[in-house]
Amino acid sequence: MVRIKDRLVVSGKTLPLTIKSFSVLTTRWFLFVTTCLIMFFSFTSAHAQEWKEEKGDHFIVHYMNDAARPKEILRKAEIYYNKIAEDLGYPRYSNFWQWEKRVKIYIHPSKEAFQAATGQPVWSHGMASYLDKSIHSIETNDNFLDAILPHEITHLVFRDFVGFKGEVALWMDEGVAQWEEDDKREAAISAMPDLVARGDTLTTQSLTSIDVRRETDPAKVRLFYMQAISLVDYLIKNYGTSSFTNLCRELRDGKGLEEAMRIAYSNSIRNIEELDDKWRKYVLRSKKSSQ
Ligand SMILES: [Zn+2]
Repeated sequence: MVRIKDRLVVSGKTLPLTIKSFSVLTTRWFLFVTTCLIMFFSFTSAHAQEWKEEKGDHFIVHYMNDAARPKEILRKAEIYYNKIAEDLGYPRYSNFWQWEKRVKIYIHPSKEAFQAATGQPVWSHGMASYLDKSIHSIETNDNFLDAILPHEITHLVFRDFVGFKGEVALWMDEGVAQWEEDDKREAAISAMPDLVARGDTLTTQSLTSIDVRRETDPAKVRLFYMQAISLVDYLIKNYGTSSFTNLCRELRDGKGLEEAMRIAYSNSIRNIEELDDKWRKYVLRSKKSSQ
């Protein structure tokens, strides 16, 4: 999903269509969502003649007007795909996103059309659906190319890799997706040292246990997302992509977060408390070194 602050007011009704919601869904919900999506797409196929297509190696952009800039979207999507796959250590041999399995990007001609097709709330400007590997947005959205597109592609790559079997904390799912948005990554990295120094942060334990989608305090939600980015940044920059890949692989194989961390980080991070402690020291060190 897209706008950080807006995630606050998400109601349970809209969440099941989004990829981030899957981390907490039960199998029953999962089946329900499948049905919804199948129904939705068989419905839209009646208007299929209106969609034009621009095809690339891993994506097909569906659009109605040239103002949607399909060639530019495709060019950037392929660049993001390679960068994100590299950052997350997504297996290179995977051809999951090629040919008929390419990700479909739908650029709706108006906000109304987007809402009618996806059932998203008024504040939403984009969404990804894991089940049919699609991304939806609106052709007039200025944030799409630089923010929404890399964010949603990251959700799809991450979940493609990690699956739904393991215990993936929401901060990891969102942290990874936002970490791939350059502006948000920079903002989080520069804000976090002062927040940690002042003690204005959540513990990683509570970050792992709270359901931010039910949170109504905007400041707390903003903090949740910034801390999530900072933790992902710490893990990748301090221990490298291969350890992060191992962490994802262990989660994919059904390990809990702490056990997966112990395996991936060879016992240098044995539990959430230790992650919290080491992350804080790292953030404070980065403050000193930048002074
Ligand atoms: Zn998201």
